Amino acid sequence: MEDCLFCKIAAGEIPSKCVYQDDQVYAFYDIDPQAPTHFLVIPKKHIESVAAINAENSGIVAHAFEVIAKLASEMGFKEGFRVVSNCGKQAGQSVFHLHFHVLSGRDMTWPPG
Ligand code: AMP
Ligand code: ZN
Repeated sequence: MEDCLFCKIAAGEIPSKCVYQDDQVYAFYDIDPQAPTHFLVIPKKHIESVAAINAENSGIVAHAFEVIAKLASEMGFKEGFRVVSNCGKQAGQSVFHLHFHVLSGRDMTWPPG
């Protein structure tokens, strides 16, 4: 999709610090980390947000979660980690390309602000 920051990052047109990639998903470190480890997992294909997940594209979302589980294990998140997806302006979504924040390395509070 034109003018989508994360489409451009997934295509390598804008630089990022890669954590993992395959044919379906790209994972990279957040530019403004909110925890000692904070990366984003995105589908390479443009999906706007969680609200746009459907029967046609949910396979890629399932795959994204498999990747998150694998990375969490490999990166040694033994004490725990958090997966967050802000959906829509009121929830704090600022980039309208589906992404899962993965945060680890500190105590976290609940409920989120
Ligand atoms: P959200 O606000 O939930 O839509 O999350 C968007 C995230 O993208 C924020 O945590 C930003 O810090 C992060 N971000 C924005 N631009 C970049 C970039 N060029 N590289 C890496 N992360 C970015
Ligand atoms: Zn996009």
